[in-house]
Amino acid sequence: MEPRDLSSHAEYVPGEGIEEVARELGVDPDSLIKLASNENPLGPPDAAVDALREHADGISAYPTSAHADLTSSIADRWAIDDEQVWLSAGADGAIDLLHRATIDPGQSILAPEPGFAYYPMSARYHHGEVTHYNVPKDRDFAVTPDALLEAYDGERVVYLTSPHNPTGATVALDDVEEIADRTGEETLIVVDEAYGEFADVESARTLLEERTDVAVLRTFSKAYGLAGLRLGYALVPEKWADAYARINTPFAVSELACRAGLAAMETDDHVERSVEVVEWAREYMTAEIDAPTWESGGNFLLVEVGDATAVAEALKREGVIVRDCTSFGLPECIRITCGTEDQTAEAVEAVNDVLADLNRGDAESADEEAEAVTDQ
Ligand SMILES: *Cc1c(COP(=O)(O)O)cnc(C)c1O
Repeated sequence: MEPRDLSSHAEYVPGEGIEEVARELGVDPDSLIKLASNENPLGPPDAAVDALREHADGISAYPTSAHADLTSSIADRWAIDDEQVWLSAGADGAIDLLHRATIDPGQSILAPEPGFAYYPMSARYHHGEVTHYNVPKDRDFAVTPDALLEAYDGERVVYLTSPHNPTGATVALDDVEEIADRTGEETLIVVDEAYGEFADVESARTLLEERTDVAVLRTFSKAYGLAGLRLGYALVPEKWADAYARINTPFAVSELACRAGLAAMETDDHVERSVEVVEWAREYMTAEIDAPTWESGGNFLLVEVGDATAVAEALKREGVIVRDCTSFGLPECIRITCGTEDQTAEAVEAVNDVLADLNRGDAESADEEAEAVTDQ
């Protein structure tokens, strides 16, 4: 007895963790800075940690009321009906829920390339197929309706990531609307706003007023600093309301995740401070890094460094863990998460040192080659 044939299914490659890198290098984990997974450098909000402690005794019961309370609180925040909020284990969980609710075997999704790896993974194991649209580097990774629609061929779900991971580019609301208008009635446009708090663009939530073909993904993992809890949600069209009860895993979100999420939503200042730190760090990195970068609406910056794997390895030895974007299909780029001021300054110094070293190395080997040529 074996699992079904999963040979065409890719594994998710997460950013490297502090503990594993510390073990690999034989150094103290405290000496490392992790800027590889777009986590919140300020940590979780105190109110959420207090709520976890306060409710720890309650975990012998299923989370019925906490789930309902968090759903209502999110619905209020977005001025939407409770039934239109689909709580999930991270926004990743919401991607699964949307696929369960939409994909019949053999139907396809249309996903960005480069882009977030979980859309195709989830579609495949929900018996769906995957096609891609190109997010063109030579046009600063702009997603335009014309380019996307050229790739579109009646897919059941189309993913837009705004701000996009790993490029940081945003999609204007007018363009989302145009894409929704120009795709078929049976196509759902999913706008993944995992980094929505950090960008100066309006949420696609607005489009749910008039439309039945747009859904929005949000998460507590990034601006709220609760990645370890696994808490996110989808906002879905009114028409979709009753599908959740039919496809949701019973109590997919834990009691403690709900309690912490509720507490986090009641304290806006943590999100505000997180956004401020990110705005500062993006600007600082853009100005100070000696390599090309792209404008980012996320809590990270994409940097063109040449050989991303070599640079990421060298940075690790300098104590800074960044994301090598080779697995995203950008082997010449790294993605650096915005850290605190100290972390960001240290990371920038390390990046510039590593780039200078590698360039010097290149120049030396070019010299050696030139010498070898003249020797002949
Ligand atoms: C981080 C991220 C998510 C969601 O992460 P969860 O931790 O599952 O909420 C979704 N989409 C993109 C593009 C992301 O970068």
